[in-house]
Amino acid sequence: EQDVTEYRKTLAIRVSGFDVPKPIKSFADCGFSNVLTNAIAKQGYERPTAIQCQALPIALSGRDIIGIAKTGSGKTAAFVLPMIVHIMDQPELKKEEGPIGIICAPTRELAHQIYLEAKKFAKPHGIRVSAVYGGMSKHEQFKELKAGCEIVVCTPGRLIDMLKMKALTMLRTTYLVLDEADRMFDLGFEPQIRSIVGQIRPDRQTLLFSATMPRKVERLARESLTDPVRVTVGEIG
Ligand code: ADP
Ligand code: MG
Repeated sequence: EQDVTEYRKTLAIRVSGFDVPKPIKSFADCGFSNVLTNAIAKQGYERPTAIQCQALPIALSGRDIIGIAKTGSGKTAAFVLPMIVHIMDQPELKKEEGPIGIICAPTRELAHQIYLEAKKFAKPHGIRVSAVYGGMSKHEQFKELKAGCEIVVCTPGRLIDMLKMKALTMLRTTYLVLDEADRMFDLGFEPQIRSIVGQIRPDRQTLLFSATMPRKVERLARESLTDPVRVTVGEIG
């Protein structure tokens, strides 16, 4: 225990919650498949970043997470890698319809970056990723979603449009990521986020990431996450 406490200090990480899994020190501690391990190496990721050290084992254990960390800390892989494992654990992957994982981000640019990173880890597994944000016509997007996918990376407004058009169902969605939640709120997406969260089955795993935790985001987290572990990076004096 002492060893773990010391290690968390060196990561400048603060963790709160019940029965929190120990942080990992290397990607090899995650028990990833060879395919995923190779994809990580291909990305040039040699060792996990601080948030990844703590968030990966928590997410892999199926727990909800509130992740508070600045830009550039490596949050994307912290939620995408466990999402890939979560999807590969589904017994009837290709038989049912609709995404298993949904990632919401505030802007088209941020969603696009996540989309590119998610594809690098998803593709070697035959997992399909769809981008649901401005840039593609709604008609094209509708067709792509109808063809099927396991992961959707979206901005909240465009996902709502696609849900209204019945381009997808979220019946089998069990892994939800709200990335840069504070910025999504700043941009006025609270109603859309609440609508999306409200339409996804409550037994999902939910991960919320934010650089700051204003009261509104705190309230969303309290209402939408189950027994979350809170991981804060970079604020230990
Ligand atoms: P955040 O979402 O916290 O701003 P990103 O997930 O976008 O951070 O990652 C920031 C940068 O760090 C990206 O270029 C990403 O490819 C890189 N990166 C992420 N994890 C690692 C790692 N373990 N080792 C090296 N580079 C990494
Ligand atoms: Mg990010």
